[in-house]
Amino acid sequence: MSLFKRNNNSVAANGNNFELAEIALKSINDGVVILDRSGIIRFVNPAALRMIDFNPMLSAVGLDLRSVFRLESKEGRELSDQENPLVLALASGETVDSFRGSLIVGNTNKRVPVSVSVINAEGGAGDKIVTLRNIAKELEEEGAQTEFISTASHEMRTPVASIEGYLSLALNPQTATIDARAQGYLTAAHTASKHLGKLFQDLLDVTKLDDGRIRPEMVPVEMVSTVRQMADTFYGQFPDLKISYTFGSSNSMSDGSGVKLDQVVYGYVDIHFLQEIMDNLLDNAMKYTPAGGSVWVNVRGDGDRVLINVTDTGIGISADDIQHIFQKFYRADNSDTREIGGTGLGLYLVKQRVEAIGGRIWVESGFGEGSTFFVSLPRLSSEEYQKRVAIINNQKQFAPQMNQQPAPAPTIQAAAQMVQQPAPQPAPQPQIVTQQYQQNNGGTI
Ligand code: ADP
Repeated sequence: MSLFKRNNNSVAANGNNFELAEIALKSINDGVVILDRSGIIRFVNPAALRMIDFNPMLSAVGLDLRSVFRLESKEGRELSDQENPLVLALASGETVDSFRGSLIVGNTNKRVPVSVSVINAEGGAGDKIVTLRNIAKELEEEGAQTEFISTASHEMRTPVASIEGYLSLALNPQTATIDARAQGYLTAAHTASKHLGKLFQDLLDVTKLDDGRIRPEMVPVEMVSTVRQMADTFYGQFPDLKISYTFGSSNSMSDGSGVKLDQVVYGYVDIHFLQEIMDNLLDNAMKYTPAGGSVWVNVRGDGDRVLINVTDTGIGISADDIQHIFQKFYRADNSDTREIGGTGLGLYLVKQRVEAIGGRIWVESGFGEGSTFFVSLPRLSSEEYQKRVAIINNQKQFAPQMNQQPAPAPTIQAAAQMVQQPAPQPAPQPQIVTQQYQQNNGGTI
């Protein structure tokens, strides 16, 4: 039955508009799907069905969206319900803006790259409108651009590293003698060359992530101790900074909601991606928090998700800037940020990495009110964690046999160590670690 004709009967005055709307929806090349609140398809236009080679003799109306429109991540992994933006939007009532992934075409190896958006239909009944845009051509053009940027950054990184090295030698009293004025000039040149080096490195990372050259390698880990180790190590590099850093669930900056002491929280992540994500958020928290301020990091289980927060008492972000800070090259421009070095690529890279491992990132902040960056990642139950560790255990056991080298059967604990993570034992009592550091607004870039 046509959704539009039915409406047409009840809204006689708008009859022509409904017919025109139906013609438009049936003619456009973008896929449009209307879902009810439980994810059942109420309407789907021909373009959406063409994308997945859906048998034109059958009707998709009344079917569950998940069985018809199956999505893969950019990295080629079928998305679980916990990662699928359509399923998450149905559960949370939130919208989705231009999620990039691929539609799985029937039972074939064919994939259609799409940008998926979800909005709430007017009327408040919980219906969702999903749009699917084929982005194959866009990706091709971006690919050519990416290749150029990647080659250029790679070629330029080498001479910049050499300039940086020679400037370091010139500034080192053991290798060169220069007067105070020359020292001032060379120090400025050294800072600029380091910034340039960081920019090329970030650009290279952006191109590698954008074209899928870096793919996550997911491993099961205990999240509380993993994130804690990363944060402790990061701030441990700056013994002279003057901000206080705290890890753990009982903290004066916490509102206490949903926080559990002694929690063991298992996740499934790429360790290098998580490290980069944490380093970037912690670096920003340090850069944008003036001396005397504090940074608080915590991890907790939140239903079927792991929730990490990096909270600071720094300069905060205005409502206008918040909507842009995850875009490439965006930097808030105000008197506080102007003096602080940066490329504007860090949070874009963080978002790319978070999404590549099935997560979401968002920020709560106000100008002058500090900031909290939240990262939500898929959580594993204790059984799922042990199962995945056992799989790694088996794989490791199998690998040496291929090389004709007998090896003892690894235990679950050994497998956990092999993936460089702690064994599945209760986490130590989260402690509050407070260290005083001298703040460095010049940043580390
Ligand atoms: P940058 O290299 O400029 O730090 P990012 O992409 O990491 O680039 O961040 C983008 C912008 O978001 C920053 O320029 C800054 O304006 C703002 N920002 C990021 N983190 C924070 C924070 N913890 N507090 C205040 N502003 C922040």
